[in-house]
Amino acid sequence: MRPLDKDTSLGEAANNSKRIDPYSVAFDFDGVVADTMRLFLKLADDVHGINHLAYEDFTCYALSECTDLKEATILDIVDRLQDGHYTDPLDPIPGAPGVLKRLGEHYRPLVFVTARPHVGPVADWVQQTLSLDATRFEIVTTGSYDTKANELHQRNISFFIEDRLETCFQLQLAGVTPVVFQQPWNRRAHPFMEVANWEELAALIAWTDEKHP
Ligand SMILES: [Mg+2]
Repeated sequence: MRPLDKDTSLGEAANNSKRIDPYSVAFDFDGVVADTMRLFLKLADDVHGINHLAYEDFTCYALSECTDLKEATILDIVDRLQDGHYTDPLDPIPGAPGVLKRLGEHYRPLVFVTARPHVGPVADWVQQTLSLDATRFEIVTTGSYDTKANELHQRNISFFIEDRLETCFQLQLAGVTPVVFQQPWNRRAHPFMEVANWEELAALIAWTDEKHP
């Protein structure tokens, strides 16, 4: 065994030079923590009878630009998602609950900053999915992509996990380090740290206060 073998797990994210401070990180919700677009697809089928789309077809953030979905259909589904008007479960992105629960229990309370206009079903979802006490997380709804950086600054947060590239550029300009969470709608060149899944994200976190599993 080579002397440096204990460090090789950190090398999984070799394209990234920074480690994420677990006391200074926050998260977007949709597309990072919650698998919202899979529920979007289910609602498109169940409510609107649209079944020709696949997850990989969502190659842009403004869906009317990369799919044949009508604006009214998109708005209806987004409203249902934001208001909790659905019966199928909103699943977490695989691996998210374990990492978030560990952060929320052992470090600072979790901070989620979402451009959703109101918290809707998100608070109950977080509490139930992560089995976390309500004092161990905060959900900030901005109603706008443009004010996320401000909310992060107010909370001394310097890393943000996000799936919308345009927001990542805004955050970078505002002095917050964005980490792109890979999704079909953010597959174009960018200068940011990037992770393909929650396992890669966990490997980037500079865990300090408790033993790494
Ligand atoms: Mg998102």
